[in-house]
Amino acid sequence: MSESSELLTSVLTCMDYRLDPLAILRLDPGEAHVIRNAGGYVTDDAIRSICLSQQLVGTNRIVVLHHTDCAASARTAEGYRELVEAGTGVSPAWDVEPVGDPRERVLAAIEQLRASPLLDTSLLEGFVYDVDDGTLTLVG
Ligand SMILES: [Zn+2]
Repeated sequence: MSESSELLTSVLTCMDYRLDPLAILRLDPGEAHVIRNAGGYVTDDAIRSICLSQQLVGTNRIVVLHHTDCAASARTAEGYRELVEAGTGVSPAWDVEPVGDPRERVLAAIEQLRASPLLDTSLLEGFVYDVDDGTLTLVG
């Protein structure tokens, strides 16, 4: 196999401890960069990480992996703000957008990633992982 045909993946996913992204996507260590945050959001930091992954290592596939029963869907944006303020005494400078339906979140993430001029999105896939039965569904 020539190096140019090698498939290297950037995975953007949630930090949920029930997800083992490499195992779910049947990837081995060395085949993927995994970018995680609460809810698996497309943030400036996520775009920066995927961009550097592509430019430094040559990853050529992006996978968005969301999941059912995400804790980031348990509260409203205001509810998250109140939670953080109650726990820390500080109002955070950021908002947490509730995750909602994982399929819709995958499609929204794909749209956001495609809109970034910093990313090669020619190989971009989205999946929803069911934490109850372990099934993986291709969404986009
Ligand atoms: Zn989650």
